[in-house]
Amino acid sequence: MQFIDLKAQQQRIRSGIERRIKRVLEHGRYIMGPEVAELEEKLAAVAGTKHAVSCSSGTDALLMALLAHGVRRGDILFAPSFTFIATAEVLPLLGAVPAFVDIDPETFNIDPGSLREAILQAKKDDNGTLRGIIPVDLFGLLADYDAINAIAEEFGLFVLQDAAQSFGASFEGRRAGSNAQIAATSFFPAKPLGCYGDAGAVLCNDDVVSQKLRSIRVHGRGSHEYESVRIGLNGRCDTIQAAILLEKLEIFEDEIKRRHRVAARYTEKLGEKYSVQRIPARHVSVWAQYSLLSGDRDGDLDRLKEHGIPTAIYYPTPLHLQEAFQNVCYSPVPLTHSERVCRQIFSLPMHPYLSEEDQDRIVEILLTG
Ligand SMILES: *Cc1c(COP(=O)(O)O)cnc(C)c1O
Repeated sequence: MQFIDLKAQQQRIRSGIERRIKRVLEHGRYIMGPEVAELEEKLAAVAGTKHAVSCSSGTDALLMALLAHGVRRGDILFAPSFTFIATAEVLPLLGAVPAFVDIDPETFNIDPGSLREAILQAKKDDNGTLRGIIPVDLFGLLADYDAINAIAEEFGLFVLQDAAQSFGASFEGRRAGSNAQIAATSFFPAKPLGCYGDAGAVLCNDDVVSQKLRSIRVHGRGSHEYESVRIGLNGRCDTIQAAILLEKLEIFEDEIKRRHRVAARYTEKLGEKYSVQRIPARHVSVWAQYSLLSGDRDGDLDRLKEHGIPTAIYYPTPLHLQEAFQNVCYSPVPLTHSERVCRQIFSLPMHPYLSEEDQDRIVEILLTG
C-alpha cells in the first residue's frame, strides 16, 4: 500500500504525459516555452483569479509574494506555528520576523481569536513594523478568510494565503488562491496537484503586483533582458513541468471528487473514536492529507506499521520550537494547541486511487486496537 500512490495516477495518464513531454523535446523551448503561458491561464481559471504567475516552487512563490509586497528587515508577519517550515522560513531570509499564532484544535488552521490577540500584543511590544498575515490552508482546508481578512483590514495588514496544500479547495465556491489579496501554491509531487519535480505559482488579481512578480521571477528584470530594476531571483517554472501539470489538470476535478469519497469514508468510520479534522460548513477541502488526533499515537502507528500500512506525522514539532527559528522568531501568544496537536496528530494513506478494501483494512486495524 502507498501513502500517496503516484504510480496509479501515472498509469492513468501515462500516454498523455509522454505526448506532452515529446512536444517540448521537439520545440526545445525549455525555459518559458508555450506550455508555461497555457498553464498560467488554466491555473487562473481554476483559482478564479485574474493572474497566475508560475514559478519554481511553493517556497519561491511565498518569497516572490513577499518581495512583491516590499517586505523587508524589521517587518513582522503573523503565521501559524503548526505548519510546514517553508511558510515562515522565507521571512528571516528577508530580515523579517515570523510572529507565531496558535491554531484552532479542530480545523488545525490559524485561530482568528489568537491572531487578534497576537496583533494586539505585538502592537504593545512595539519591536517591528506589523506588515502581514500568512494563513495556511492546512491539509487542503481553507483557513477562515472572512475573519482573517476582517482583522487584516482593521489593522492595515496584507494577507498572503499559503495555499500550498489547498489548490482546488473552496469556500462558498470561491477557490483557493482567490481568498486573500495574494496567494502562493505548490506543485510539489505529493500535493493534490503535483508535477514531476518542483514548481509553484503566485495567484492574485492586482495587475501591478502581477507585473512585479513577473519581473522578480527573472532577476528583477525591467523592460529588456539586461535591464535590472529590482532584486529578484531565478524563479521560473520549467516548461516540462508545465507540460506535466497541463496533463494532470485534465483529471484534477475528478481526482478531487475521489479524494472526497475516501475522506468521507474515513470520517464515517473513524469519526467516533478519533478527533478527525473538522471541515466547517460550505467548505470543500482537497484533502492533501487525512489527519487525526490520537490519545495513543505511538500504539496506533506501531500497529499500522506491523500490518505494512504507511503513515506520516505532519508535523512533529511546531515551528516556534524548531532550532532554526530560535533567534529569528517571536511568540506573542501561548501556542498550547499547536504543541498538543504536534504530539497527537498523524496522517493516513490518502490519494484518489485508494481502494475501499485497503481503506477497510486501515480502519479495522485502528478500530480493533
Ligand atoms: C509544501 C508546502 C510549502 C512549500 O512548497 P514547495 O513547493 O515544497 O517549496 C509551503 N507551505 C506549505 C504549507 C506546504 O505544505
